Amino acid sequence: MARRVLSLRHRARRWLFARGKRATRFIGNYPFFGGLAGTLVATVMAGVTFAAIYSGRAEELRHAAENSRNIVRIVSSDIARNVELYDLALQAVVTGAQQPLTWTLPEALRQQVLFNRATAASSLGGAYVIGSDGHVVASQSGEAAIGIAASDRDYFLAQARSPDTGLFISKPYRSRLRGGVLTVGLSRRIGGREGTFAGVALLGVRIEYFDHLLARIDVGRHGGVFILMQDGTMIASKPADPRGAGANYADSSSFGRMAKQAAGTYTGRSPIDGREHIYTWEHVGATPLIVAIAPAVDDVLAPWRRRAWFAIAMTALFGGAWVIVSWVLAFALRDKVVAEGELMRLAVTDPLTGLANRRALDRRLASEWRRAAREHEPLAVLFFDIDHFKRFNDTYGHAAGDEVLTLVAERIAAGTRRAADMAARYGGEEFTVVLPGMELASAVKVAEKIRKRIEAANLAHDGSSFGRVTVSVGCTSCNPPQGGSAAKLLAAADHLLYDAKEGGRNQVKAQQWSGDGVEPAEAGPPAAA
Ligand code: GH3
Ligand code: MG
Ligand code: MG
Repeated sequence: MARRVLSLRHRARRWLFARGKRATRFIGNYPFFGGLAGTLVATVMAGVTFAAIYSGRAEELRHAAENSRNIVRIVSSDIARNVELYDLALQAVVTGAQQPLTWTLPEALRQQVLFNRATAASSLGGAYVIGSDGHVVASQSGEAAIGIAASDRDYFLAQARSPDTGLFISKPYRSRLRGGVLTVGLSRRIGGREGTFAGVALLGVRIEYFDHLLARIDVGRHGGVFILMQDGTMIASKPADPRGAGANYADSSSFGRMAKQAAGTYTGRSPIDGREHIYTWEHVGATPLIVAIAPAVDDVLAPWRRRAWFAIAMTALFGGAWVIVSWVLAFALRDKVVAEGELMRLAVTDPLTGLANRRALDRRLASEWRRAAREHEPLAVLFFDIDHFKRFNDTYGHAAGDEVLTLVAERIAAGTRRAADMAARYGGEEFTVVLPGMELASAVKVAEKIRKRIEAANLAHDGSSFGRVTVSVGCTSCNPPQGGSAAKLLAAADHLLYDAKEGGRNQVKAQQWSGDGVEPAEAGPPAAA
């Protein structure tokens, strides 16, 4: 079992190694693909990062809007609850004022009866009963306010005009009773007999109450939070409205939307600071008040921007490095593959003649032998040896001998035209040609053609009886017989070459080889000595 696992692991490693080698070679051959692939990977990674960053931005804005909705809801319900309390106090004043008996009571007691409930409400700027002629007839704070006129105020006029006004919340005004303190008035009508107008009960709520409410809310450096009326009048804001409480924003585009919908969120430019804000608002219960909060988009996104810049910088840095490394590696691999190719070529090439060397010949001959045996095809071999080459060297020198070797190699290579043919330098002044699939008759023709061409080159050789450089050739072909081998075939060709030398040189000796008659050992190449 353990051995099986080991062999599996071994096979997996071999498989991976083979794949890796193939990929390496591919990139080495096409380095642009390697560089482009690296660039593509980096681009995709950058794209994924940017998509994540961008979705983070939307998430941040969504979160800010949700936060805003919660704050607005809390402030709104706080105001609604207080208004409800004030209204109860106001209704108590109305009830008291409608009792004729109240007005017969002594001053101190009357105050008790009328304003007992009102004292319980906090943030109050005073409670009053105003007569039908618009003058204060009773005040929580005592005598001082009696007789002051309020007939021009909206909280009075609204109640005088209609018996159905109910609870009225006024625009902010400067109180005449309390040294000009900014106040919002809550009024209810005091009805006389048969529905006549008998006056108004008034509670003044200091604007400070609203300011305090907003003071606790954090809206960021450039954000704002507001309490407005449905007609666009600003009641309170943070930061403080440069136009002050009572300023009207009915014309601003952002207010238009707030007036129309009971609650909502949208992003728009502020008419006050010109920045983009996320406006979230809610109408306060049954009142004409609207609570709105508007954090600046810049503030909301500031932490996200810092994170995003960091991520972008890192992506650019590492992505860029990755791209550079991809290209450098791809071209380094190209150089490696080219160098390897060159080495491999050199390993199988004879440096003097440029023909295949002995090592390449042996390999090729063996594989052609196997193929011929498998496919029952003939295989021919030619063995060349330059005649009296020793003498040539002795006469003309080694350098001239080398030139002859090169020329003879050229002629031999030129004489083998098919892609499968192979000319090799066997060693010294001996050459071999492998002719796969060739019968003896054709092989003889090739051998004869090459011999003639070398002779026709007419290279002077005084040491030869022919007066020029010539070659002797052993030529054989076979259908690979049982018990034969490539080496034996070559030895047969060498043997025939020996015959050619014996026969007077500058000739081809040919014979079909059937697998016997030749012992490779005793027929070593004569010139190799
Ligand atoms: P034969 O006709 O019987 O073949 O006579 P030969 O002189 O050619 O035979 P031998 O084998 O006695 O001599 C081969 C010579 O080839 C010996 C050597 O000087 C020469 N030779 C072998 N290799 C090279 C080479 O690379 N360059 C040169 N210039 N000569 C070489
Ligand atoms: Mg020779
Ligand atoms: Mg020789």
